[in-house]
Amino acid sequence: MLKVVTLFLVFMAVLAMFGRLRIPGIGKRSDRKGNLPKPSLCPECGRYNLRGGPCRTCRDRQG
Ligand SMILES: [Zn+2]
Repeated sequence: MLKVVTLFLVFMAVLAMFGRLRIPGIGKRSDRKGNLPKPSLCPECGRYNLRGGPCRTCRDRQG
């Protein structure tokens, strides 16, 4: 049983190390590339249009 516990602890330690190495790398990448599209303002109503298609607010107003 002790061997199993030791192996489990080692495994967790390795996972933690990999997590520390990976997480900051991913954060930098997403910051540089900017995978998420920038929220654009609708020129007519001035609201944020997150989808990038036709503005919902304007479409609702016009019908
Ligand atoms: Zn609009």
